[in-house]
Amino acid sequence: MYLLENFLSDVFNIKSIIMALITVGLIAIMMVLTYMLAPRSTKLPRRYRLVIDLVEAGVVIGGVVLLRQTFWVLNAGNVLSWGYAIAQLMILLFSLYAMQNIAVTLVNLAMPVFFYGQALYMGASWQWWWLFALMLLVLVGVIGYISHHQALVLKSEWRFLGLQLLYGLAWCLIIWSVRPFRLFYIVNVLVIFIIYMWIIRFFVTRVNRVIAHFASLDQAANYDELTGVRNRANFDTTTVGVFGVYQRHPAMPITMAMFDIDHFKYFNDDYGHLAGDAVLKHVAQHFNQELLRQTNHGELFRYGGEEFVIIFENTEPLEAQRIVTAIRDTLQHEPVNLNGKKLNVTVSIGISALQTTDLNFDSWFKRVDHYLYLAKEAGRDRITVEGDTQKL
Ligand code: GH3
Ligand code: MG
Ligand code: MG
Repeated sequence: MYLLENFLSDVFNIKSIIMALITVGLIAIMMVLTYMLAPRSTKLPRRYRLVIDLVEAGVVIGGVVLLRQTFWVLNAGNVLSWGYAIAQLMILLFSLYAMQNIAVTLVNLAMPVFFYGQALYMGASWQWWWLFALMLLVLVGVIGYISHHQALVLKSEWRFLGLQLLYGLAWCLIIWSVRPFRLFYIVNVLVIFIIYMWIIRFFVTRVNRVIAHFASLDQAANYDELTGVRNRANFDTTTVGVFGVYQRHPAMPITMAMFDIDHFKYFNDDYGHLAGDAVLKHVAQHFNQELLRQTNHGELFRYGGEEFVIIFENTEPLEAQRIVTAIRDTLQHEPVNLNGKKLNVTVSIGISALQTTDLNFDSWFKRVDHYLYLAKEAGRDRITVEGDTQKL
């Protein structure tokens, strides 16, 4: 009874309530952050994704440090309390479920090592080092499993419960290995920890659902269903932005390339509409992948039918020509495979840079469209760059 009372007074006092409020606040901040960043980060190039991952990991570390400092101040230099320990474990485990990024996983893995090292540094005995090593292995397993199967763990109640138990137990024993306490405490701590984590699970699953919902709305509104590349609506909004950027920075070259599959009608007529769809998909995805490989200044859109547009920011027409021609050349080596039959696809291309004399977007677009027409007129499988037509 004494232990229970002691425990309750440890967890339910004004200081613990302050800690709980801070914890809830931190979890809310992490939730909002994930909610804002997650849908964006999947579409960003790798470099920027890394920055977002580091920001998220920074917020987790910042949260843990803030908790520690607050507790330190509230308790005049003492950081031994179960309320505090539970709060830290919740922050760590929540970040693992909600953020789904490698930097946050690493923070989770580093934390027990940091904790143990710090305790030794402050004079704790390393008599139970083997227990620490064993529990560290358990934590590595649990953390590794959660970070690879977040969705599955959140969905399955038993898996969630089992992993919380293992995680909480491993941490309790790690703490015990440097600051021995009555082992009976572990039961109390685990019960409270698990109750809190169930509440968190409730919110995380909801937030994940909202994120997935918005991602699917965004996908449907901005991406073409057949080819998976950006669609006409996305093109229209993007070009408004691009035109604005050019007006503010006219020295930065912006180039548009438009290409259209040659005699596409024959694919439909000779092999059927589904085969036509397969050709469209192949060409779009090939261009999209190769474009990403060649540059991170270009974006591909399906303008309509078998007509595509690439907007190149900070790129001169000659450089855009080099990139598009290189992609077109690789397309020749990877023809569409239709039931074992290889279908060769050629395209005609028009390229022009946005000029100061373009008073609106339309005049630029019409020029590029006209260059594409010139390439078609000259016999197809050709490219027209600023009025100059060449065979591809
Ligand atoms: P050109 O070399 O002059 O471009 O000739 P073309 O046959 O490629 O051009 P045309 O504009 O005469 O025909 C385009 C065809 O593309 C007509 C339309 O039925 C077909 N098409 C448009 N969208 C799709 C689609 O999503 N799937 C399929 N299978 N066909 C489509
Ligand atoms: Mg065509
Ligand atoms: Mg066409």
